[in-house]
Amino acid sequence: MDENKQNINWFPGHMAKTRRMMEENIKLVDVVVEVVDARIPASSKNPYLDQLWNRRPRIIAMNKTDLADPAVTERFKLWYEEKGFTVVMIDALKGKNIKDISRRAVEIVRARRSSQNAVYRADRPVRMMITGIPNVGKSTVINQLAHRSDAAKTGNKPGVTKGKQWIRLQDGASLLDTPGILWPKFDDQATAWKIAFIGSISDGILDTYNLCVNLLDNLKVRYGSRLTERYGIDPSVLQEDGAHILEAIGRRRGHLKQGGQVDVERTCVMVVDEFRSGKLGRISLETPEELTAASAAADAASEAENGPAAGEKEMGAAAEKDIHGEDRSE
Ligand code: GDP
Repeated sequence: MDENKQNINWFPGHMAKTRRMMEENIKLVDVVVEVVDARIPASSKNPYLDQLWNRRPRIIAMNKTDLADPAVTERFKLWYEEKGFTVVMIDALKGKNIKDISRRAVEIVRARRSSQNAVYRADRPVRMMITGIPNVGKSTVINQLAHRSDAAKTGNKPGVTKGKQWIRLQDGASLLDTPGILWPKFDDQATAWKIAFIGSISDGILDTYNLCVNLLDNLKVRYGSRLTERYGIDPSVLQEDGAHILEAIGRRRGHLKQGGQVDVERTCVMVVDEFRSGKLGRISLETPEELTAASAAADAASEAENGPAAGEKEMGAAAEKDIHGEDRSE
């Protein structure tokens, strides 16, 4: 296989287990919070949750906003809100806006209870669960919510599966202390690579060289000037592919092996690390406009092939319903 064409796969074994756990835990809660990485708010989201939780309140917590391009993050917020999601933008590391999660959860669940004349008392604690693919910040969110509320673990509750711990927050919410782990979606290789760039696929199973070359191919299109500024490479190098850009960066940084060859492994580790830690600045690797255009193109292609109805995509179908299951399409 061509080294540069390494494909990313997920393991079905993990998927079956995480799916079972998710389906078991989701029955216990009133609202599901899906944490996504603000640098790739669509690629780090798992559409399976929308199917599983279609008619119930969902919150998208766009995390790591400190690392993402603020203008793009703002546009993604509106994009998801138009699809009927409640969106909060957070930086879980610093705890920024973290309490918005429980505040909004309580708001939407209580409004829903009163509109439905629910049998529950409207002031019964709102039970929520934090979910998301690996490495998006689920544990950090849970710790922050628990910490900021001086929360107490309430322990097992009657009727709740043994071993489940609830953290009682101050604002009327209860939080399941273990996150629901979702598997990354690999709709296509471009999505899979983006998930790999942010570190949600264990680096152990990936070739760092491929990861870095793909990342540079992506960055040169979106944020080429960041590369030239940080690494002092000539702007003309951006006309080349990721492998050449990597060489140029290694040479400028003096990452050389005996004999003067560029130490590509060392350079790769540095570039990936600098991207992930924000040293290349605040970067978003996808935009809502690109996703809308891609989805329209896919619909048109599908319609041309199969007739009008077949163009409906999973994400598009979910978008027609708002969080309360009401049809928003006119
Ligand atoms: P989980 O696998 O989804 O539970 O993710 P973790 O909570 O373990 O977080 C993964 C990594 O992301 C850790 O190194 C966190 O410190 C870091 N992290 C979490 N939230 C943020 C954030 O808002 N900003 C930044 N820069 N890093 C974060």
